[in-house]
Order: sequence, then C-alpha cells, then structure tokens
Amino acid sequence: MKLNRLSGLGQKRIEKLAGIGISNMADLLTHFPTRYEWVETDLGNYQENPKNSFQLEIFIESVQQKPKYLLFIGYADRVPIHILFFHQNYRKQSIRLNQSYRFQGKIQRWQNSLQMVNPILAKEITDKRVFLPVYRLPSGITQTMFRRWIRQGIEEESVFERDYSPFFGDQFGSHIEAIRTMHFPEAPSDLEGARKRLAAEEAVQYQLAQILTKQPNRPGIPHGDVDLTLLIKQLPFQLTEGQLQSLTEIRKDMLATRPMYRLLQGDVGSGKTVVAFLSMAISVLSGFQAAYLAPTEVLAKQVYEKAIPFFTQTAISCVLVTGSTKKKERAGIAERIKAGEGLAVFGTHALLSDNLEFGQLSLVVTDEQHRFGVSQRSKLQSKGPAVDVLAMSATPIPRTLALTLFGEMSLSVIRSLPAGRKPIRTYLVGPQKRKDAYGFLEREVEKGHRGFVVCPHIELGEESDESDPMSIEKLEGEIRHSLFTRTSHTTLHGRMKKDEQSSAMDAFKSGKAPVLLSTTVIEVGIDVPEATVIFVESAERFGLAQLHQLRGRVGRSDRQSYCVLICHSKSEKAIERMRVLVESQDGFEIAEKDLRLRGQGNLFGLEQHGSFGFTHLDLAIDQEIWETVRRSIAVMDQQKIHSFYSYARRYLDNLKEVREYNACNSR
Ligand code: ADP
Ligand code: MG
Repeated sequence: MKLNRLSGLGQKRIEKLAGIGISNMADLLTHFPTRYEWVETDLGNYQENPKNSFQLEIFIESVQQKPKYLLFIGYADRVPIHILFFHQNYRKQSIRLNQSYRFQGKIQRWQNSLQMVNPILAKEITDKRVFLPVYRLPSGITQTMFRRWIRQGIEEESVFERDYSPFFGDQFGSHIEAIRTMHFPEAPSDLEGARKRLAAEEAVQYQLAQILTKQPNRPGIPHGDVDLTLLIKQLPFQLTEGQLQSLTEIRKDMLATRPMYRLLQGDVGSGKTVVAFLSMAISVLSGFQAAYLAPTEVLAKQVYEKAIPFFTQTAISCVLVTGSTKKKERAGIAERIKAGEGLAVFGTHALLSDNLEFGQLSLVVTDEQHRFGVSQRSKLQSKGPAVDVLAMSATPIPRTLALTLFGEMSLSVIRSLPAGRKPIRTYLVGPQKRKDAYGFLEREVEKGHRGFVVCPHIELGEESDESDPMSIEKLEGEIRHSLFTRTSHTTLHGRMKKDEQSSAMDAFKSGKAPVLLSTTVIEVGIDVPEATVIFVESAERFGLAQLHQLRGRVGRSDRQSYCVLICHSKSEKAIERMRVLVESQDGFEIAEKDLRLRGQGNLFGLEQHGSFGFTHLDLAIDQEIWETVRRSIAVMDQQKIHSFYSYARRYLDNLKEVREYNACNSR
C-alpha cells in the first residue's frame, strides 16, 4: 500500500515524512513512539497523577480578554476550571459560551483553581483513560494525524506477514500484533511482549545475514616474525599487561596459516588503538598492506593523524580514504593501493568501494566493530584472498554472546586501564545547580583544558515543554543568555557537512574553541587527551552503557577529569540509575547493573541506540531468544537457509551480492 492512500496525507506531508526517513508503509509502521503518555478522563485522578494529560468535557460559562491571553472560565463535572490561551485570540470566535468542548492538555493548580494552558480540542475522543504513543515528528505533522495514519496502516497492512515460525514457533505472538502493541499498548505492561517478538525477528535477520556473508575457509597468510621492539620502545608510555598479552595472541594468529578472526575487547580508554597499530606493523613489515576501518569520518581522520607519528620511524606510509577525499588525491592513493605498496590504509566505509582494489591486503582492523553491518565487514575482508581480521569493541558483551555474534571469533581482552589514570570524578546535578556547574566548566577550561557538552537532540522539541530533553539549539539559546560567557564553543553533530564537522573538531582540538557542544557523535573513539570535563545534558535519556562510553572521552591523561550528569528528571528510578555511574567506573559492572535496574518492560523512554543495528534486541537480556534462533538455524540445511535470504535484508547492504555469492557457492 502506498502512503498517499492514507487519509489526509498529501504530497507536502509525504515530503515532510520523507525528511525523517519515512518513505513507505513499512517505514511508517516501524516509526515507533519515543515515549507514551497517559490521557486521563476523570478529574478525580488528578491528585494521584498530576503530570498526566487530561481530556475533559468542559462547559464554558464566560470569557475574558486579558492583555496577554484569553481566559475562558468553565466547569468540568461541576469543578471550576480556567482555560488560558496565549497567542490564540481566534479562539474567541471558535469557542462559544454555554456549550461544552473536549479539551486536552496538562492541568496546573494556580492559586486556588485548576487551569489548562493552550490545550488542544481533542480529536480522538475517549471515555476512559488511555495510554497514547508520542512520536518524534517533523513540524506540521501532529501526533493526532500520525496516530490516525498508523491505525489505518495497521488495518490495511495486516496481510503481509512473514512466516517466522521455522525459527521460533509461535511463542511470541504475531508480527502485526506486536506492531500494533508497540504503537497502541493498553498499558505499559503490554510492551515487553511486543518487544520480544520484534527482538526475535531481529535475531533471525542478523543470524541469517551472518551466515549468508560468511567467507569460505581458505588458507591464511603467514606473516613474518617481525621485530616490534623498536616501535614499542619509542612509545611515550609502557604497554600495559593486557595490551602486551593481546599483542602476543594476535601475533601468534598472524603467523599461523589459518586466517585470524579475533575480537579485541577493552573498556574505553584501555588503549586498543596502539595494539591495532602494532598489528598493522606486523602486516606491512611482512610485505603486505593493512586497512583500518573506522565508523565515522571524524574518527578515521583522528586515527590517521595518530598513526603518522607512530609509523614515522618505519618505512610504512599512511594514507587516508574517506568520502571527502578529493577525487584526484583519491585516484593517486587508489593506484598505490592497487600496486601493492606497503601501506597502512585508514578510512571509513569509503574503503569498501568497488573501485578500490588492494594489491596485497593481509589485515583488516575494524574499530567499534558493532557499528558496522555484517556485510560491510565481510566486504572489506573479501578484498584480499584470506585476510586476517582484528575487530575491536568497547561494548562489554558476555563471552558466550560475543562468540555467536561475531561468528567463530577468538577473544582478547584488555582488562585494565593504563597506570596513572585517576578515576573520573562523576557528579549528578539537578536543574537548580546547573548554572553553577557551568561555572565549573569555565574554570576548568581556563586552565587550558577542554570540555564536552553532550545533548540528546539537535533541534528544539516540537512540544518544547519542560520535560523535553535538552537540545543543542536550546543550549545555544541559553549560552547567548549567559549560561556561560567567558569561553568560546563550537558545535558538532551528524547533520553538519563533513568539512564543517572536521573544522569544528580541529577548532576544539587546537583549543580555539575549548568547549564542544555535540550529540552522541562523540560517543565512540574521540581521543583528545586535553579534555578533562564532560557534561551530559538530560543524562536520564541515555542508557548507562552509553553514558559510560561518553564518560570515556575524558580521563585520557594523568590529569584529574570530571563527568557531570545533568539530570532533568525527578524520578527516583532515573536518579538511582545515574548513581550507578557515580559509583562505578567499570564497564562490565555498569552494564550488569543497568540490566538489573531497567528490568523487563522498562526499556522505553530511553533513547534508542542501535548496537549492531538492533532496535529491539537487547543482548544483555535476550540471550535466550538468541539461542532459540541459533538452535533452529543450526539444524537447517544450506538450501533452506538460503531460501530465507530476503529476511536478512536489513543487515545486508547489497542483496545482489549475496545472491551471486550463493550462486557460486552452490556450484
Ligand atoms: P580505546 O581503547 O578507548 O580505543 P585509545 O586507544 O584511544 O583507547 O587510548 C586512550 C588513550 O590512552 C590514548 O591517548 C593513548 O595514547 C593512551 N594510551 C594507550 N596505551 C597506553 C599506555 N599503556 N599507557 C598510557 N597511555 C596509553
Ligand atoms: Mg578506540
């Protein structure tokens, strides 16, 4: 079904939806709510739930025009209530006296009476309290409209249901029921069941993708027993035990005749990058080429810049290939890569492009492994006959899961941080102390340090009420109104152009703009040792693991660092969650506590954040689902597995490739 068959959805609105990534019915139905709200219909519930919205039938008795607003006085079930409209004088004509209307909005107590400010006239009439979805929407599209489209879409779309029963039977209910429940749960407790069904589907899709892109077993490249002593000696620090141990394991694999497939796991700041560089040195000094795949351009550039001084004393040259590498320069680099010159190649997914041919690729390093799609990884691997793979991740995943997630990988772990690191002092700050906290940020920056301020959103929320999470736009407004004044700042987020991003990063690194306002784009890998403070606005919106990653952006030198979590929520639960970070610095421990605190069915309200591209599947709690699926696939023959290849679409960039690959493998 086409989107334009939905009522009230014309060309203009279709374009608006396209702007947030909705271009067909499936996109629409999987645009899930960011939160839900109760709409009450009984004023008697106000005492108990003063923060909920209310839909009330109100009899309007009189109206007064005040200088700044329009005031209607009426009764809801004989209780007097004031309705105030700011900037909506036209309401004087549309709302008549001695008639009843259904108003919907929050209720406030003002002196001795109740009031509603700028309520809407309810279009979805209900006679009992309902739990309604709230979506992230472009301006000009209301919640009411969007809910109507979703309802209509679910009705008409129900015929398309994929059969997942070969993978997990019918234990999680049907797909369309899960979709319906995600949008319109009757109560919060319904959500967990629906989430489980969608999580199970994701497990199937991912595991199929993994099998379909699996490289055939081929003999590996035996690297030389390269002497790394000098390279290690010239480092400005001593390698930690974990780093040395990992390096030993990697070297052993690289010397062997089977391809290496190893995951290097280590908490943020544990120093994985230098281990990767040394592994790359083994490759290039043995006469081959090594590639380092980073998830973002900012990160690729940063690693490349670190690599240059590292490799200067060797004959190894470093090159950088990203989406914004100039055509001519790129052509030159491509030629050298193709000729098999001993290079350490750094880049983003631009490295995967078909017209980049490696003459002598022997090692692929993927940084922040979980950020890449299954097929992106296998694509780079396929650029050499049987390359060694070193995948790196800071996500604490239990060992058993790591193994099935990444296929048959071996695991190296760096358990401890470099010596001399001081624990990052972490503080929890409520809105009242916020201004003072920014004073602290300025003082810290005036010592020559740098500070990050992270917001969950870029733009102001549509509702722009108090409960809206902080955005970069809103924060910039506050800075203009003197939130802080003595230091200059710059901004970095994913919607900026690549060259703007990179100049913002440069200004921050050089200290020209010592404060960086950003979204979670800085979450992975950014390494600016001068940074000693990180502020996270609306910290309650993030998962603990994510906050831990963010905190890892500071504390990268021997200077004392600070993390300030600004919590705008008064909920006990939110505060308890934030406390975990105040009390612990250990990624594994934090992940475990996060799981325990969130419990089941409590996953919503957090900003969704797709590790491994999962929206619903949570590796920490869905191990059983994962295993169920794994067992079903394990007993299927190849032909049967391949018949399901379209299920894996979401995790494959290029289905055609898979089909071709299958074709040549079945021959
Ligand atoms: P991550 O594991 O999060 O990727 P990085 O590789 O970015 O961590 O390292 C974090 C910082 O620690 C870098 O500035 C790096 O130069 C430094 N570093 C790495 N190893 C050591 C060590 N053994 N001793 C001191 N500092 C180190
Ligand atoms: Mg890193």
